[in-house]
Amino acid sequence: MGKRTGRLSARLLIASSVVTVIGFSAICASVMLDMRRGVEELARQSLENLATGIEADISRNIELYDLSLRNVVNNITAPEIAGVSRPVLHLILFDRAATAKHFGAIQVFDVKGKLTVDAASLDPMPENRADEEYFTVHRDNPDVGLFISKPMLHRGAYSIVLSRRVNGPDGSFSGVVAGSIRFSYFHELFGSLSLSEGDTITVLRSDRTIMMRTPFDLDVIGKNLNDRHDWNPDNLQDGGSYAGTGPVDATPRLYVRRGGNGPLAVIVGKPLDTIFRLWRVQASRIGAVMLALIVFAIAVTLVLAREINRRAQAESRLEEMATTDALTGLRNRRKFDQTIENEWHRAMRHKMPLSLLMIDADHFKAYNDTHGHQAGDQVLIGIAICISDAVRRAADCAARYGGEEFAVLLPGVAGADAMKVAENIRERVLVWSGADNLSTVSVGVAAVTPTAVMDWAMLVQAADKALYAAKAAGRNRCELAASPALSLVA
Ligand code: GH3
Ligand code: MG
Ligand code: MG
Repeated sequence: MGKRTGRLSARLLIASSVVTVIGFSAICASVMLDMRRGVEELARQSLENLATGIEADISRNIELYDLSLRNVVNNITAPEIAGVSRPVLHLILFDRAATAKHFGAIQVFDVKGKLTVDAASLDPMPENRADEEYFTVHRDNPDVGLFISKPMLHRGAYSIVLSRRVNGPDGSFSGVVAGSIRFSYFHELFGSLSLSEGDTITVLRSDRTIMMRTPFDLDVIGKNLNDRHDWNPDNLQDGGSYAGTGPVDATPRLYVRRGGNGPLAVIVGKPLDTIFRLWRVQASRIGAVMLALIVFAIAVTLVLAREINRRAQAESRLEEMATTDALTGLRNRRKFDQTIENEWHRAMRHKMPLSLLMIDADHFKAYNDTHGHQAGDQVLIGIAICISDAVRRAADCAARYGGEEFAVLLPGVAGADAMKVAENIRERVLVWSGADNLSTVSVGVAAVTPTAVMDWAMLVQAADKALYAAKAAGRNRCELAASPALSLVA
């Protein structure tokens, strides 16, 4: 495994573990969100049931009380009633329903607002209600039907007043019948429910006035939600639900509304905090475990990736060592043999020329004998540097062939150009060795465009032969083999 493939495997490892981590996190997040949706749905259902129950109870009681008011409205104008005594009149007008626990006594006011009949007393105290809203509404408008007042102090108790218009035989206004439902009714109804801290129940009139709210707060009762400009009424329609901050206080809740058709609507709210508390504990527990796993997986991945890189580096160092000559740093003989084998076939495929330079130090034995083996080694290093400087293309291969011989393989280079490279090397060595010209090299050059009948050994032999010719011609020179094929014949 080379350095590059090592780096690639390390990257693949990191990428796959990142993908795995992201995948698992996504699955985990989607499961937790599903759980959250389930919890919210369950809370919504139970709030819906609660709101439906409360709304049904309130509507039933208002309907019941309204029946009693209708009874008075229908009978009070009957001509037969004109002469009857007070006790009989009471018996005719007021049934028992209106005397139930939380219902106030029904009263009848005449056209001027004067109290004429009071279910609570056969001889009522003088009283005039001409200024009350429940009187003026009916006086000024014949089609109101059942009117439910704002919460108010009525006969010493917080109540809502229910009233109906009394019409004369010609349809003209002839008074108002009014009764009340005390707040104690709502307190008892809401008190019977098991509510958690922060839960709210709000009773709204159709014009969005708050009739009652638990937790009970007199500052809120009687206020109209239309005055809250930051609150959009579309947020909560009948039968709908809304999660967020409501118009009354800042606690975010899940609100459910029931009863848009009746005179009163009921809105129940539960703090989102309470709804999601358990889920939040579970989610953070799962999240913490997930986070720990992710950190662990990433740590393991990084350690493994570093190990892979380290091994890849070690392997590529080994590979380099196995193909490099220790003294000169050029390619070694093994690498040269591999390269010439490959380049030979490549040149054959592409019908390209291939040149080989065989370089041999002149009189090197004598140099060794005079200056010592170590000085000889330094000369070999110097020659190798001169060769490297002259042979720069990536495809070129400069190698130490053996002893004081070097070989340079030049793919794609023909004989004349190869000779130029050879001359360059020879001159560089000459310059490097200094004025006394102690170290020189002879170079044998051979070039050929390989064909199927040839073998790369022919090229080596031809270059060797040219080198021999250079030596024979006096050394410190380059010779080009006429043609490897010809040289074999010779
Ligand atoms: P010629 O010009 O004909 O090539 O003469 P030469 O003395 O170079 O010829 P020969 O091939 O007989 O000598 C090669 C010498 O190179 C033999 C050996 O002492 C020396 N030699 C071979 N390898 C090394 C090496 O690694 N280091 C050193 N210092 N000398 C080496
Ligand atoms: Mg030699
Ligand atoms: Mg030699």
